[in-house]
Amino acid sequence: MESADSGSLRSLRELNRGRVIDALRGRGTASRAEIARATGLSRSTVSSIVSDLIEAGLLAEGAEATGVAHGESGGRPPVLLSLNPSAGLAVGVDFGHTHLRVAVSDLSHEVLAETWRELDVDHSAEEGLDAAAELVHQVLNEAKVGRKAVIGVGMGVPGPINRATGAVGSSSILPGWVGVNASAELEQRLGLPVHVENDANLGALAEFVWGSGRGHRNIVYIKLSSGVGAGLLFGGRLHQGAGGTAGEIGHTPAMNGTAICRCGSRGCLETVASARAIAEQVGVSRGEPVTTKELLELTAAADAAATRLIGEAGREIGVALAGLCNLLNPDCVIIGGDLSAAGELITEPALESIRRYAISSAAEQVTVVPGVLGDRAELLGALALVLQAPDGVLGSGPPQEVAA
Ligand SMILES: [Zn+2]
Repeated sequence: MESADSGSLRSLRELNRGRVIDALRGRGTASRAEIARATGLSRSTVSSIVSDLIEAGLLAEGAEATGVAHGESGGRPPVLLSLNPSAGLAVGVDFGHTHLRVAVSDLSHEVLAETWRELDVDHSAEEGLDAAAELVHQVLNEAKVGRKAVIGVGMGVPGPINRATGAVGSSSILPGWVGVNASAELEQRLGLPVHVENDANLGALAEFVWGSGRGHRNIVYIKLSSGVGAGLLFGGRLHQGAGGTAGEIGHTPAMNGTAICRCGSRGCLETVASARAIAEQVGVSRGEPVTTKELLELTAAADAAATRLIGEAGREIGVALAGLCNLLNPDCVIIGGDLSAAGELITEPALESIRRYAISSAAEQVTVVPGVLGDRAELLGALALVLQAPDGVLGSGPPQEVAA
């Protein structure tokens, strides 16, 4: 459960950095002594963290906002510190299969402006990336901030990303994006550094930072929307795998799967447990097409077909998760994406399957909960990706639970 000492120290320091930033965010300006009082941290800890943050360009001292302040500052009258807003804006871009969302946040993760539009992302990468660039300019205008203030752009794509090339990794999953280096393309359009990540990984990151995964270290996040994907976050870090395609759980065989899948296989989990597949089946029962939104309304109204199919999907997901629990021993499974709205109707049967098919020690240690960030999870994850990038400027780390 506990990470190694060095890991604990690092997270403690990250946590403390977050506290210092929070204290400043609440006050606008504060002296080191005020920050120490507000956070309960020692003055030497505060001084050391403040020095780091100034060096990283995240804090400014007094009126000399651009001055460099190295070294000891003993004996001087209290100097007021403030967050340097021009150092910490992040942009998040989330491509879903049917939508595009964009937001800008400051370095304290506060969202300043956000917008979205419907878009058939599968269709063409070119079109999607052009639209993303346009929406980025729109949110920056809305937030009244310049492009120069942006330290990076996080982008989520609903498909595997090849780590080595940065290209979308599978021709069958996002057909319109074959071989497209999405981050390079968006960088070219924006003139800003772009970090790209698979959408389920971003969902995992967001739930870890702000949502159901807070306080957990070993998380499996299952995104159930048009497709089915998983984000694996272990020891507080995303697991991407050798080539970046870790988490493609949607294309593993389902127990009762028979339909042909868009990947070319038959009976993939996605063909029985994605929102799209379930909506299609409910449509058959009703004799008319059903959208995902209608599916969720029918589920909330206890429609027989919708409830049955959601329960079956939960059981199938649980079978796949049982294998994952045996292999990876997570402490928290989060059901995200469109179907997170089904709550216990999907988490209960999933947990039942885990208890039935996983070894009991692994099954006993895991909780299965719906995600709480809804359709903004991937967007928030894209922001977190920038704010936490190892080479990024912030590094305040996720606001983890404070140990007693
Ligand atoms: Zn498949």
